[in-house]
Amino acid sequence: MSNLTFNFNNKKIKNIKNPRNILGGKGANLAEMGRLGLPVPPGFTISTEVCDLFNKNKKKLPKQVLKNIQLELKSIEKLTRKKFGDLKNPLLISVRSGARISMPGMMDTILNLGLNDQTVIALTKKTLNGRFAKDSYRRFIQMYSNVVLNIEGHLFEAMIENLKLNRGVLLDTDLEESDWDELIQRFKELVKKETKKKFPQNVQEQLYGAICAVFLSWDSQRAKTYKKLNQIPDHWGTAVNIQSMVFGNMGNDCSTGVVFTRNPSTGENIFFGEYLINAQGEDVVAGTRTPQHITKKAKINAGSNEPSMEETMPKVYQALKKTLLKLEKHYKDMQDIEFTVENNKLWILQTRSGKRTAEAAIKIAVDMVKEKLITKKEAILRIDPNTLDTLLHPTLDKNVEKKIIAKGLPASPGAASGKVVFAAEEAERLNGVMQNTILVRVETSPEDIHGMYAAKGILTTRGGMTSHAAVVARGMGRPCVSGSTEIIIDYETKQFKAGNISVKEGDTITIDGANGEVMLGTVPTVQPKISKYFLTIMNWADEFRKLKIRTNSETEKDSKVAREFGAEGIGLCRTEHMFFDQERILFIRQMILSKSKEDRNNTLAKLLPHQKNDFKNIFKIMHGLPVTVRLLDPPLHEFLPKTEKEIEEVASSLHVDHKEVKDRIEELHEQNPMLGHRGCRLGISFPEIYEMQCEAIFEALVECKKEKIKSITPEIMIPLVSTDIELKILRELVNRIAGKIQKKYQTKIKYIVGTMIELPRAALQAKEISKYADFFSFGTNDLTQTTFGISRDDSGKFLNDYLNNKIFEIDPFVSLDQSGVGELIKIASSRGRETNKKLKLGICGEHGGDPKSIEFCSKIDLDYVSCSPFRVPVARLAAAQAELKK
Ligand code: PEP
Ligand code: MG
Repeated sequence: MSNLTFNFNNKKIKNIKNPRNILGGKGANLAEMGRLGLPVPPGFTISTEVCDLFNKNKKKLPKQVLKNIQLELKSIEKLTRKKFGDLKNPLLISVRSGARISMPGMMDTILNLGLNDQTVIALTKKTLNGRFAKDSYRRFIQMYSNVVLNIEGHLFEAMIENLKLNRGVLLDTDLEESDWDELIQRFKELVKKETKKKFPQNVQEQLYGAICAVFLSWDSQRAKTYKKLNQIPDHWGTAVNIQSMVFGNMGNDCSTGVVFTRNPSTGENIFFGEYLINAQGEDVVAGTRTPQHITKKAKINAGSNEPSMEETMPKVYQALKKTLLKLEKHYKDMQDIEFTVENNKLWILQTRSGKRTAEAAIKIAVDMVKEKLITKKEAILRIDPNTLDTLLHPTLDKNVEKKIIAKGLPASPGAASGKVVFAAEEAERLNGVMQNTILVRVETSPEDIHGMYAAKGILTTRGGMTSHAAVVARGMGRPCVSGSTEIIIDYETKQFKAGNISVKEGDTITIDGANGEVMLGTVPTVQPKISKYFLTIMNWADEFRKLKIRTNSETEKDSKVAREFGAEGIGLCRTEHMFFDQERILFIRQMILSKSKEDRNNTLAKLLPHQKNDFKNIFKIMHGLPVTVRLLDPPLHEFLPKTEKEIEEVASSLHVDHKEVKDRIEELHEQNPMLGHRGCRLGISFPEIYEMQCEAIFEALVECKKEKIKSITPEIMIPLVSTDIELKILRELVNRIAGKIQKKYQTKIKYIVGTMIELPRAALQAKEISKYADFFSFGTNDLTQTTFGISRDDSGKFLNDYLNNKIFEIDPFVSLDQSGVGELIKIASSRGRETNKKLKLGICGEHGGDPKSIEFCSKIDLDYVSCSPFRVPVARLAAAQAELKK
């Protein structure tokens, strides 16, 4: 029972191995800050274990927990010399959630708890500030009613807006004590109407309700979505933090703010934050008032006229500065800190590792190594490889004229174009039909999270750089422009106005999250410049990784990009894709549709020079490195002509009539093309196809040699084998053609032959198959398909049901199913190496670019992973992390 509640001063916390698991991130950090001697308001944490007990106890708090809470309250009362519910000197508390890792805006918070019709009078007398006391009470009623009593927040907001309109004022701070009195009455009436009960006056009842609401919020819809998106297990649960209140809204010597120790967008080593005078916590993030800058420098840079905290509260600012530096040094990471100033005294309410963009993560990691705060290894492990993607993708082309219709804050970098939508649901719906959207909202709330994820970019008209939209977008890697006040949204008519320009739902806009610009239409993009910090991290990663990283590429463009990103060769060149473009697909279709060997040979003769040239161009780019060329593997359904126009084109090029082509398509039709006449089966039936391809490869190689291009070693790969005999026959074919070309040019050709392992039988028969293989490359797209018996083309229809029912934790086509497909890979690797000790092993399915799958490949000692060009840096970093985690 000793693990139920922990006072922030509890000495035992120091000995807990993973305090975050029990106290949640917020609770663990509050206790740690207390130990560091920082000014933290007294309080305690109800542990994550209670969340589980609460659920098992029919959503009620167990008796022992209730007892502990009373004891802990007593201890806060002693430290603050206030009493909970007292009519002279009442203790007010905050109740906040706190999971193991921070889930910004996801869970519930209640402030000023302990106020009722009596204690509010006591607070007025004690502080001699009636306006403050009433303001605090109305805030409490609002928060409590929303979080605990489930009354919609906007009903209260509307009442405030109405009263401000009546009084002819703009800001909440312009309302007087009597106005808040009036609102408190109206709020209580609303509660009565909505719940058929009076607003609770008993402070113990208030506390009980608030704690239960936090535990319940762990299972709310928005928390469920967040947990799913971030792969947070349900059993973690949340802790609850109960802390005595300090007030930033007691007058002009009070303030509240949020500050990052470094810039979370760029990583620059300067404080970055916002504060508001005479305000309470939620005001800063809610975006209802525009916050001011913390430092004078930031104020000047932003061209703001509002004084910074450094100017208005110089002494407190110095204390804050000292605290920020101390916290960053202690945690050895950039911190995101919430603070409150009450009558010129600084209080720290929270510190956590700050969310940051990929660009900032890299710069901060590199800088911290230089500052000797962390090691290279720690720097590498700090960066989430998946986020690197956002740095490599295109940014807006500066040379193209853009029609800027509004500006906002550059809240999350990157550029995105898409159709305007005003609701999260619409963004999600259009994403389902592959349409890009920009989600445009006055402000976002945690309910919008699924739409923010589905949209390509986010635009808000209210809220600062630490608003919900900004924080969440940065975390997700979505471009975001926030606080674009020039835009006025009309949700009713589904349009917005920027000056005299009207933009309707469905119109296309572009946003640039790097500079806050909003533009009409689609603006073309260019490849971004890679920063020196990025290159430093990549070089450090290369020092530690053992896995080689290759790329999947069959075009010059992709091969160039991949090589620039550090690819160490090509791991998969899908030769049928070389014919994907409009003009060339005809050749492949002609070849597939050929009825006789003669027809086929004629088409193949036309294909040969193209293939040879393509190979030559790729070999030139990849000079000095290995290139795995896979012989033709076209599942027929992907390549047969479908539309009447396509059929007509093939018919006229083959000089046969339309009907003949149609009949032939009918003849070739397969019920299960993925299990059909594809892969090496095609090479067995029509050896002339593979012969032509080998000829093209070797001819290209000879020409490169003549041109003195640094040699590449082709690794000729036979797809979709399931027996050793298939490979034996086709290996002989490759050798025969190599012999022919060597003889023709009187030159020696170096090459190796291997196979893809894409079928469970091939994995099980690896010992036999490897007699004829110099290498295995795991085609985990097909291997996943054939192991599960789930079509890779059709799984989308039911995959969500499998994810929702927790049958799959993650789509097995995205991240390798280690216990099933992975087991087959392990079997194939060890059986293959039994026969051939030098057997080279790699993976070329989509999983080759997924960090978790890469970690698996590293663990089982594969030689390389191969992935799409833009994933190469991701794979380099993931491979280094995998090595460091061993
Ligand atoms: C695979 O199956 O994993 C593979 C790389 O081949 P493809 O995706 O072309 O079938
Ligand atoms: Mg395959």
